[in-house]
Amino acid sequence: MSFNAPVKSMEYLLKYSVDMEALRSLPVFEEISEELVSDILTGAASFARDVIAPTNWGGDQNPAQLNGDDVIASPGFKQAYDSYVEGGWQSMSTPADLGGMGLPNVVSVATAEMIYGANMAFGLCPMLTSSAMKAIAAHADPALQETYLPKMITGEWSGAMCLTEPQAGSDLGPVRTKAIDNGDGTYAISGQKIFITWGDHDCAENIIHLVLARLPDAPEGSRGISLFLCPKYFVNADGSLGNRNNFKAIGLEHKLGIHGSPTCTMEFDGATGWLVGDINRGLACMFTMMNEARLYVGVQGVAIGERAYQGALKFSHERVQGKPIDGGSDDPIVGHPDVRRMLIDMKTRLMGARAIGMATAHAVDVAEAIADSDEAKTAHARNALLTPIAKSYGSDTGVDVSSIGVQIHGGMGFVEETGAAQHYRDSRIAPIYEGTNGIQAIDLVGRKIRRDGGEAMRLLISDLKGIVTLAEQAGLDVCIGALKSGLETLTTATDLILSAEEKDALSVATPFLNLAAQVISGAFLIKAAANGLNAKDSLAPNMATLARYHALSIMPQANAALEQIKAGAAIVFDFPEGQLADL
Ligand SMILES: Cc1cc2nc3c(=O)[nH]c(=O)nc-3n(C[C@H](O)[C@H](O)[C@H](O)COP(=O)(O)OP(=O)(O)OC[C@H]3O[C@@H](n4cnc5c(N)ncnc54)[C@H](O)[C@@H]3O)c2cc1C
Repeated sequence: MSFNAPVKSMEYLLKYSVDMEALRSLPVFEEISEELVSDILTGAASFARDVIAPTNWGGDQNPAQLNGDDVIASPGFKQAYDSYVEGGWQSMSTPADLGGMGLPNVVSVATAEMIYGANMAFGLCPMLTSSAMKAIAAHADPALQETYLPKMITGEWSGAMCLTEPQAGSDLGPVRTKAIDNGDGTYAISGQKIFITWGDHDCAENIIHLVLARLPDAPEGSRGISLFLCPKYFVNADGSLGNRNNFKAIGLEHKLGIHGSPTCTMEFDGATGWLVGDINRGLACMFTMMNEARLYVGVQGVAIGERAYQGALKFSHERVQGKPIDGGSDDPIVGHPDVRRMLIDMKTRLMGARAIGMATAHAVDVAEAIADSDEAKTAHARNALLTPIAKSYGSDTGVDVSSIGVQIHGGMGFVEETGAAQHYRDSRIAPIYEGTNGIQAIDLVGRKIRRDGGEAMRLLISDLKGIVTLAEQAGLDVCIGALKSGLETLTTATDLILSAEEKDALSVATPFLNLAAQVISGAFLIKAAANGLNAKDSLAPNMATLARYHALSIMPQANAALEQIKAGAAIVFDFPEGQLADL
């Protein structure tokens, strides 16, 4: 199946939902003109369609193979990766002072969505490189940065993130991998890591692993974990590659989806590593990497959902079955009201989740561009607040939308050859990795709401109230009342979370996150519709239709979530644990 990146949708949201003009007013982004962004999006869309998308089905059917000590990527992946590097796509959002192109994140999330939509399994490799670079740039000493960053920025070397062990998943406190000080500025790393994405492969010349490990005298739990950089191949003083380090993949997982992404069990056997950041501060350093990765995992959900939507749309114009309500007996199923409802539902959810991802990226851009000011602090808080929502809502949307995609295909969706089943399978990992969505909800409720007394959320709600006026100016009828009511619901829910006992708050963390996402995504779509209508954009009436659909069918779901939040822990815990298997 072909894939065409949704350039028009992205450009529309960049123009009317995300405040690109405010970004352009910052010196670091003043050269990022609308024309430049448009050229980049168009170029990335062609690359995704022509080079990456053709590898998608082959990767699903022919997963990476472990051949002795080496992992061989799926057929065609190496050639696609070489083109990715040659095209300079890896360096896109890396700041110019590090040697990258310095594009804003808000543009990078759009191009990343294109790559994930073309082939999500492939896209994980550049995503991990980019996150690893962030952690190295923020925490490694200058010599390490000089040795490793230049080739990672180009993508010639890729990155991997080694956190998980059999007994340490959501909770990394029990990490057992050992680090022994060699006394020469290096450490010997030993232990086993599981589920390591693109932990080994033959696409890049070298693979730079960031590994969590524990020194012998370290405190117990998460306060005793340090971060180490372990290259697959050592780097000689002249920059050439030397011997292989003492670690390798010893197994590859068989998975539900993303078959083209090698998920490796990595054995570290006295591997040489260099400390990144301070001793015992490894988790904090890793969070630099994970925060960015969380946003991009949300984007993956949107990307897969978009691909599922395109497949379902095409099928709905080809499949003839029954006589559509206003059509003839030869007309395809797109004319059936229920099929049409599913298509609009998919499109609306995708647009809403995409808008949240862009708003999160926008906050990162502002925070990074104007460091050390009150405005930067506010942008940091906005990014921190939106990241768990972008990750969870984006990834859940991917699963929901690709499931609807299967439904539109009927039986042909359940069998493999249409590709609809692959999207559903691929989408299912995003709510799990990079911190499960349950962990995101706890992060939102605990760190992002209760710890700052709800300030960041109140500020967001206050900004979103400004959209009501925009909607009134644009005459967006049903949207106005729905948005007012949604914002009241979000305010009440936030107050309840702030005053709740911890057990109550944790029991309703996921409904709270969903409620917030339903209201915020709706607000962003209404903003996009209103701004577009006020600017007389030809696409605005259709965006207004999506905003109305959201206001009538998605935003009101927040009211149901509010009732659950009011009920707190009781509704979850009244059923005794010992009797969960009964009845
Ligand atoms: C395909 C794939 C690729 C991956 N890639 C990488 C990688 O590159 N690097 C890496 O280090 N790891 C990777 N992982 C690991 C991934 O990040 C973990 O699987 C994930 O963090 C969840 O950990 P777990 O599997 O141990 O689940 P568990 O932590 O055992 O969670 C099981 C369930 O319990 C819930 N839960 C756990 N703790 C809490 C809590 N405190 N409060 C509420 N609920 C809780 C979870 O939400 C979940 O529903 C990958 C995993 C997969 C499957």
